[in-house]
Amino acid sequence: MADRLTPDQRRLNMSRVRAKDTAPEWTVRRLLFSRGFRYQLHRKDLPGKPDIVLPRFRAAVFVHGCFWHGHACTLFRMPATRTEFWSEKMAANRQRDAKAIALLDELGWRSLWIWECVLKGRGRLPESELAEQVKAFLYSDAAFAEITENRIFPTAEEIL
Ligand SMILES: [Zn+2]
Repeated sequence: MADRLTPDQRRLNMSRVRAKDTAPEWTVRRLLFSRGFRYQLHRKDLPGKPDIVLPRFRAAVFVHGCFWHGHACTLFRMPATRTEFWSEKMAANRQRDAKAIALLDELGWRSLWIWECVLKGRGRLPESELAEQVKAFLYSDAAFAEITENRIFPTAEEIL
């Protein structure tokens, strides 16, 4: 079938898709699927609307953007302007994240955070390593775990 979208319409479509289905999230899905894990997406009925849910493991997976959640990592840079606005926004997101873990726990769901810096940038993990860490969580009975960047290089703040 012929492509009836103009390039401009296509770009608009793609940018809309990206808002929900981010590239880091795709990487995690592909990794899970290729290893035989089956999942559900964007379960709105669960606290915090987890990005990926593995019912068999009672596990809710959140792929966190390091900027939006104010992650102290090599990807994160606080904007030079409107700093107060941004830091309040990040603090609110972090509060929501913490609350979601508690609410999910009450419902018998376990939470896994996978930070964006695991998937891109100089602190990213090899995919096989990430897969090992995800598997370790799934087969554990931990209520919560987070997978964060591999800090091979110290950040400027750590050097100073
Ligand atoms: Zn990060």
